[in-house]
Amino acid sequence: MSGYNAYITSESIPGSEDGPLAGRTVAVKDNISTEGVPTTCGSAMLAEYVPPYDATVVSRLKEAGATIPGKTNMDEFGMGTTTETSAFGPVENPAAEGYVPGGSSGGSAAAVAAGDADLALGSDTGGSVRCPAAFCGVVGIKPTYGLVSRYGLVAYANSLEQIGPLAPTVEEAAELLGVIAGPDDRDATTRDAREETGNGDAYDYASAADGDVDGMTVGVPTELLEGADEAVCEQFWAAIDDLEARGASYHEVDLPSLTHAVEAYYVIAMSEASSNLARFDGVRYGLPASETEEGYDDDWNAAYARVREAGFGEEVKRRVLLGTYALSAGYQDKYYKKAQDARAWVKRDFDEALESADVLASPTMPVPPFERGESLDDPLKMYLADANTTPVNLANLPAISVPAGETDTGLPVGLQLVGPAFGEKAVIRAGSALA
Ligand code: GLN
Repeated sequence: MSGYNAYITSESIPGSEDGPLAGRTVAVKDNISTEGVPTTCGSAMLAEYVPPYDATVVSRLKEAGATIPGKTNMDEFGMGTTTETSAFGPVENPAAEGYVPGGSSGGSAAAVAAGDADLALGSDTGGSVRCPAAFCGVVGIKPTYGLVSRYGLVAYANSLEQIGPLAPTVEEAAELLGVIAGPDDRDATTRDAREETGNGDAYDYASAADGDVDGMTVGVPTELLEGADEAVCEQFWAAIDDLEARGASYHEVDLPSLTHAVEAYYVIAMSEASSNLARFDGVRYGLPASETEEGYDDDWNAAYARVREAGFGEEVKRRVLLGTYALSAGYQDKYYKKAQDARAWVKRDFDEALESADVLASPTMPVPPFERGESLDDPLKMYLADANTTPVNLANLPAISVPAGETDTGLPVGLQLVGPAFGEKAVIRAGSALA
């Protein structure tokens, strides 16, 4: 393995002998449960945790013949945009030395970019597959909410997140998506794409990677270019020119709600996180209070506090506190309810824009990769970098990030394409024309 700190656990988990992924390695983010193999979520809280069962996506990888070479490094519990908040140290960017790999699935993207795995799985709550794909120069797909089972994914913000593939090419990412997608009795939010699309071949995503965009209409939300870095915009428009040259047409669209999306996202994500992370109390999950420095006494509240003080990092604590605040009796209407209203507005805006366009295009990230260490002291700056990815999770839509050139200084730029619900084939088709 190369020295990018892409893996938290390197342990080969074999799959069945044949199947569509036989002979290939698929690295798995460390918040996806693997039976008998540690699943830490990048947190000291779960440093010793070994799940007794496989996540549904892991069972499907094994059945498809894939070998899992290990569990990849990530921002603690998926909370971050740079993969610097892991209790197991930061991940380096194999495509841009000295810069962050993006996050929170930075280990998965780095493993693919460095050739330490053929393919990888990440999870995307607000951009965590697409951002590292963009920063590391690989392909990442965030599926429609409900396409992929979340059973065995350790929840951060469950109404927003999906597991998604990372790969060197669109076709390989699409193929991996076909393996993990599909309804699951153990996740009641899953849907059958064949029923949703009326297409019996709905799961054959790889065949959609044919590069044929002749006649396709591409909407460009102006809100997602405002304030974006100049070098990023340059590469973005060059990619749109490419699509035009292949017979697609583009027009600008207005989605006024998008300027509020990142705020709404963080209120909802932190609220759900504060609830989902309540289980890490040293009783149900996490190191028991008796093993913390101060030990256990008879006060339960003090015991919980000790476990959380020792087990959670700064960013996780910040989010649990802010989420608890946003949900508290006096403030719920002011923050949480308002954020839900904004979420509904974002959904409506996307639906309208997708009536006049097959896909919507924007830079995946408004900025090139940060230098390592740069964003740790300024969480707000890091949150704002998620402006283009988070609206898609609020609207539960599918999106892909494909490489779209580099800045003058050689930093990877990613282009994001968003489609209608269960319209994975449209974004795969458009993406395959570019990468
Ligand atoms: N950067 C976003 C956050 O910190 C997205 C993370 C993710 O998708 N898991 O919440």
